[in-house]
Amino acid sequence: MRLPSVGRRTAERFVFYLLKAGKKDPAELALAIKTLIASVKSCAICFDFSDRSPCVICADKNRDTTVICVVAEPQDVQAVERIGSYRGHYHILRGLVPLDAIAVDESILKIPELITRVEKQLISEVIIALNPDLPGETTAMYIEKLLKEKNAQLKITRLARGLPMGSDLQYADEITLASALKNRTTV
Ligand SMILES: [Zn+2]
Repeated sequence: MRLPSVGRRTAERFVFYLLKAGKKDPAELALAIKTLIASVKSCAICFDFSDRSPCVICADKNRDTTVICVVAEPQDVQAVERIGSYRGHYHILRGLVPLDAIAVDESILKIPELITRVEKQLISEVIIALNPDLPGETTAMYIEKLLKEKNAQLKITRLARGLPMGSDLQYADEITLASALKNRTTV
């Protein structure tokens, strides 16, 4: 039930499947989970999941190190990479600012690391590519404020409004996402 979108009924079905399957299937599953956890790390630069740190994208000399695309989750990197036209780097926040937060506890997200990266590196543009919904909007505004406080001249852009409000970046089709990235606006 701790897995995303798994309710009690589905969880029950999984448990009965594993009980009926005999020893082989559950043992293979357990080994696969163990291997996954042991072999996948977090990139020390962008915080994407990777089997190495820095990850393939951060280590790629042909990518533009001066552009950082800020996304919420590692899956969003895959969505932007599928477009095939983005050649900059990423920064994965590993979540969004919760709406019920009284004060923003930025330490639960990789926001301080983003600020440090932008301060230390030569950056020409920060692209905020968060979901066009309330948590995404709240987080975007919060990050923009922090970045502007550090450097008022910094170019910060947002994805264009090709994406409908309330939609999920991970499920956006490539054409919509590509046009939103192309027509991003300066904030
Ligand atoms: Zn990386």
